Amino acid sequence: MARIVLMGPPGAGKGTQASAISKKLQVPHIASGNLLREHRAAGTPLGEQASGYMDKGQLVPDDVVIGMILDRLTKSDAAHGFLLDGFPRTIEQATALDKGLGSKPVEQALNIKVSTEELVKRLSGRLTCRNCQTPYHPISAPPKVTGKCDRCGGELYQRDDDKAETVRNRIVAYDKQTALLSDYYKKQHKLVEVNGEQGIDTVQVEIFKALGVKQ
Ligand code: ADP
Ligand code: ADP
Ligand code: ZN
Repeated sequence: MARIVLMGPPGAGKGTQASAISKKLQVPHIASGNLLREHRAAGTPLGEQASGYMDKGQLVPDDVVIGMILDRLTKSDAAHGFLLDGFPRTIEQATALDKGLGSKPVEQALNIKVSTEELVKRLSGRLTCRNCQTPYHPISAPPKVTGKCDRCGGELYQRDDDKAETVRNRIVAYDKQTALLSDYYKKQHKLVEVNGEQGIDTVQVEIFKALGVKQ
């Protein structure tokens, strides 16, 4: 049983690290950005509501995202825990999550720290699988076959919001709205932090250490 929230600015490596954590702890990886992109691709009303905000690199309104995540958490695979990635991103979302979880609250909030300069480098090179949304990078995390996802063979593409101007907006939104959340979890004695500006494998080892998980 593990109920964990993954935090960190866009490009910190949340998506990259999530699959190993989710596999190890046997809990589903639930990423708000991935769910929103799935809604967009499927053309649902929720996807349409979110679309304009995502293109500008702004946060989608709280009520939209909160409803989507609380609904996802009622699915049976989340009955024994979860790894939330990219949610909560505001105090309102964190409070709504606490309320929704009731007597089974978040246990740990893991913050992956990376400097802004490095984030810009990572995001401008990021490639994402169109099918399963696994992230890659031509230099630091190349796929085995160029342009193809290792996990599912899907096509790799550059997300529209990974282009320079939007990247800057997303980092500003993070600093203004999401960075405050580390205090929220710190006060609850749930915050653990790792230095995300190291090789992918080293970061992974540090994450398991910080979470108190044996490797
Ligand atoms: P997030 O989910 O936090 O936005 P990602 O996991 O998608 O971040 O990583 C952003 C980009 O940086 C991707 O292209 C990924 O391959 C790359 N990346 C992830 N972790 C590292 C790392 N430790 N060092 C260098 N590049 C990384
Ligand atoms: P990254 O990890 O690279 O920041 P995400 O895939 O998590 O990107 O998010 C992409 C976009 O989806 C965000 O820029 C924002 O518009 C929207 N989004 C994702 N999660 C949330 C959230 N919890 N609250 C509001 N908007 C969100
Ligand atoms: Zn894939």
